[in-house]
Amino acid sequence: MKALNLTVIAAAAMFSISSCSTVPLTGRSRLSLISESEMRGAASLEYSKFIKSPSTKVLNNADAQRVKRVGQRIQAAITKYMNANGYASQIQGFAWEFNLIDSKEVNAWCMPGGKVAVYTGLLPVAKDDAGLATVMGHEIAHAIAQHSSERASQAALAQAGGGILSAATGGKSSGTQELISQAYGLGAQGFVLLPNSRKQELEADNLGLTFMAIAGYDPATAVSFWQRMAAASRGSQKPAEFFSTHPADETRIAQIQRLLPQAQKYYNSTTGKPIR
Ligand SMILES: [Zn+2]
Repeated sequence: MKALNLTVIAAAAMFSISSCSTVPLTGRSRLSLISESEMRGAASLEYSKFIKSPSTKVLNNADAQRVKRVGQRIQAAITKYMNANGYASQIQGFAWEFNLIDSKEVNAWCMPGGKVAVYTGLLPVAKDDAGLATVMGHEIAHAIAQHSSERASQAALAQAGGGILSAATGGKSSGTQELISQAYGLGAQGFVLLPNSRKQELEADNLGLTFMAIAGYDPATAVSFWQRMAAASRGSQKPAEFFSTHPADETRIAQIQRLLPQAQKYYNSTTGKPIR
């Protein structure tokens, strides 16, 4: 049992040492077994399929221009930040796009490589450019932190770990196997995947606040944006998917308030370095 655990830990450590990269700003070491450039290639194909689909209505009105304008300001801020802090290579393969989609859904997302979609249903909640910058900054931060590649890597590692376990426990009773599966298999699901998504959410808030600040939007306005999101979430009869993955609860708002002093140091920075 002990030797078996060591085998698994050694395998995991081998993966981690050879395949980790650093998240900008937080400095967190993330697992990257799945290549980010492959993720971006796949995302780019998916995005163009989505944009060209007959069921997707891409708008080109004043609001769409606003989404592009806010997006490009965040893009410029990120470029400054990444260049000034030694992360330029991480955004080299980005091919930014910002589109407004005609849909009642309260939703926005950013695929790996900077492919952004904002849905018109979000606009009343975003209210103004600063609100839009809050949600776009947050979604884009997921792509900058390469959270999709990280999750895919975790799933791959969980599968590889599971494979090692079933090979090693082949001769054991099913009871023992079950215990080990629970300790490791469920561990991979419950410990690695789920809490990490909350970790990723907080990290995206942290990065997003900094990027919006460099772009010239007061990061303090993020608090009222998430309060409006909380109200919208309470008011919606059929909760949108965005609300379930992005709970606008007191925990998030309190965490954002704790992150504000750090983000404020970057407010209106023209260099991508803190100015206060
Ligand atoms: Zn998020």
